[in-house]
Formats: sequence, structure tokens, C-alpha cells
Amino acid sequence: MDSGSIPNARPDQSEGAPASHPAGPASSDRRAADGLRHDWGLAEIEALFALPFNDLLYRAAGVHRSHFDPNRIQISRLLSIKTGKCPEDCKYCPQSAHYDTGVGKEELMEVEAVLEAARAARDSGASRFCMGAAWKSPGKDFDVVLRMVEGVKALGLETCATLGMLNARQAEQLKSAGLDYYNHNIDTSPEHYDSIITTRTFDDRLQTLDHVREAGLKVCCGGIVGLGETRDDRARMLQTLANMERHPESVPINLLIKAPGTPLENAPEVDPFDFVRTIAVARILMPASHVRLSAGRQAMSDETQALCFLAGANSVFCGERLLTTANPSPDTDRSLFGRLGLKPEGA
Ligand code: SF4
Repeated sequence: MDSGSIPNARPDQSEGAPASHPAGPASSDRRAADGLRHDWGLAEIEALFALPFNDLLYRAAGVHRSHFDPNRIQISRLLSIKTGKCPEDCKYCPQSAHYDTGVGKEELMEVEAVLEAARAARDSGASRFCMGAAWKSPGKDFDVVLRMVEGVKALGLETCATLGMLNARQAEQLKSAGLDYYNHNIDTSPEHYDSIITTRTFDDRLQTLDHVREAGLKVCCGGIVGLGETRDDRARMLQTLANMERHPESVPINLLIKAPGTPLENAPEVDPFDFVRTIAVARILMPASHVRLSAGRQAMSDETQALCFLAGANSVFCGERLLTTANPSPDTDRSLFGRLGLKPEGA
């Protein structure tokens, strides 16, 4: 916890609660066993989005400071262990087999090659290693992935995987292999979901998340800004996350990367301030979660990223590539973090 808090940061913001409700009428303000709210009303969240930008950031920064050292950042590395030709039709994704994006199909990587990448990630300061496979759900190669998880865990890294939909047994097997986090994003609001993905439902997503929780895994779950959604959709997406029985421990907020060949390649630009607002509201609603400034950093100015960190983002993916898209180079990130005085968590 940082002692150098913003002067006059209000202590009543310590748990993301609108104690004096400057953002609008609160609902019952019920606290769960974890001391956090899980009963956010839509009107409250919309009112947060509608705050003057400076007021919203001030408030989000106060919440951030009461739960985290604001000058520490958690660093993850993401590796695509099986790329391309995914049967799902997510309209934003260059790996979908439904679109002609130029991303070819690659077979599942060898275990040793994954471990080599994990060692390099660890040696460059990453604390978590995420393995992503473009699958609807794991199939015949699942045992190989379990060996990858075991190997990465043995390197002393936190482990995360994103492999599509899981059944209860698969979630348990991943837990037994040493998986810490499972990533499964809800992507957008329940109302907007069907216009982005038709090959699975919003409820399918929630069911996998239930299996993940029941297996004792930590949840990494967030969404994407820039899918043609309204501000109301963003509020509903965050409401879904914040009102889960337990908040996801990790909340990635992605900015759409407009991949050529996908149906969203010409999606409207997102105002950077609207993106920062989404980060800030996520921080207020889920004060104890790591909010990850995830895909899309390559297209952001340093100043936009700095505003995101001020608004409460405290996790990033480092490394030149995300699954198939570009990401700032480690040198670029080192320079930015140095200029901002941000240090990796645990360093
Ligand atoms: S986002 Fe994931 S599930 Fe959707 S098409 Fe891409 S790889 Fe498949």
C-alpha cells in the first residue's frame, strides 16, 4: 500500500463505495463477505461514466491507492500456443476461421518451446505467463497443455491459460496441473453480445466461468472497447463483472485492434478519454482486482496509457506480440514505465 496518496483522497473511497454518492443514487450498498460491493445498479454505473473526467479520475485514483501501490504494475506475458483457424466467429478476431485475415493455422506448440518462452518471460520481469489457444474448447491435445502448465508453474511463474470453453472436469485438471488463472472474457454487454459472436452465447461464457470458480481457479475476465457498443453497453459489461459473486481477480480491458479482414476492421474510432473512463469505472467497481490495460496499447499514445494508469490500470501484457497482434516492445515499455516511475510488482 502506498503512503504517498493523493492529498485529500477521500478515505470513504477505500472499497469502491459511493459513500456520499456523488455519482447518483446508490442501491443498497450491500457488502459481501469480501468487503466489496456486488450489487451495483446500472444507474449508478452510468452516473460514474457521466462524471466530469477529472472528477472520475480523482475518484478512481483514490480507490486505486487504497488497495494498491499505484506505482507498481503487474506484468504478464502472453504466448499463442496454438494459432489460427478457430471455429468461433468473434467479429474482432483475426484468428477466426470465418474471416480471411491472413492468419494461418499453426499446430499446438511443443512443450519445450513453450517453456523456453516462459523462461525468457520470467527473466525479463514477467510474473505471470499466459498461454492462449484458438480453440472452441480443448480437445485431444489437452494433455499437452496440462504438461505446459506444469512446466511453467515449475519455473516459478504464475500460470494463466485461455483455451475456450471448459467443462467442470477440464477446469479441475487445469487446477491440478498448477494453473492459477483462467482467462475467459465476456467481451461486451449481454445485450450487444449477439451482434459480435453467434457461435456461442453469453450464458456459455458464464457457465465456463462457473466451472473455473468451482475448480478453485482465479478468474481473468474482462472485455473489449470499440466493438460498436454504446456507453450503456460498457456500463452493462462492467456491471456483469462487478456483480459476480466474486470479482474477477484480473480484469483485462482491451481496446479493439482493427484487424484487416475482420468484420470490425472499419469500426469507429474510440475517443481515448472514453477508453480511460472505462478503465476508471472498472477500477471503482472492482477495487481489489488487477485491471489490465490489455490489447491496443500499440495504438495508444504514452499520454493515454499514463492516464489509464492514473485511472487505476495496474497490469499490462509485455512483449512484442499479443496472440497475433503487435504490442509495444519491452524497450518501449521499460522507457515508458521509467518515465512514469512505475515498477513491476514483486521487483
Ligand atoms: S477470440 Fe478466441 S474464441 Fe473468438 S475467434 Fe478468436 S481465438 Fe476463437
